[in-house]
Amino acid sequence: MTESQVGRVRPDEERAWEALVATARRTVADGLVVGTSGNVSVRVGDTVLVTPSGVPYDRLTPDDVTGVGLDGRQVRGTLVPTSELPMHLAVYRTTDARAVVHTHAVHATAVSLLVPELPPVHYMTAELGGPVRVAPYAAYGTDELARNMLAALTDRSGCLLRNHGTITYGASLDQAYDRTAQLEWMCRLWLTASSVPGHTPSLLTEGQLAEATERLRGYGRRT
Ligand SMILES: [Zn+2]
Repeated sequence: MTESQVGRVRPDEERAWEALVATARRTVADGLVVGTSGNVSVRVGDTVLVTPSGVPYDRLTPDDVTGVGLDGRQVRGTLVPTSELPMHLAVYRTTDARAVVHTHAVHATAVSLLVPELPPVHYMTAELGGPVRVAPYAAYGTDELARNMLAALTDRSGCLLRNHGTITYGASLDQAYDRTAQLEWMCRLWLTASSVPGHTPSLLTEGQLAEATERLRGYGRRT
């Protein structure tokens, strides 16, 4: 059992921390993050556990549990929470998210330089709530960036951040992670298809996207 200077870590928080560290390491192993350039958080009750700033994920131990309240006040651990805390907290304050993943994945970040919205190239667009928007640029770690992100997340579970990266949320760490991986894959798909000279990628229609949304929700499935 860990006793930090700030607050006693509960057993459910210890388990959540373990899963958070595993997810953070996965973003590096899967090439979505280089070094410590991304961050991951998970909500346990009204506490948000979050990766600390500047500590490589392979060095994080069970004693490094870092947590804040929804107001940003540190309630667990003594390491400094990620500088992107405003984005994470904004998501938890305004949605039912239980986990948030932020990365600088290369294809997604490349798309954020090119268009205001990722064209609907694949039905997995529906998994993120519809065509993925690009939030206007603001300096990292600022409330302005958090506001821009929230606007881009309207009715979506993920968005791109211009000249910066990705952010997705979900009901679990696995779901938030999978949405980031799918988003990066779709961005790579669009960049690949749109780089073929003399051809323009075909896009899904609104009707096709609506159909995919229904199928992903479980409607229209054959039994
Ligand atoms: Zn970032």
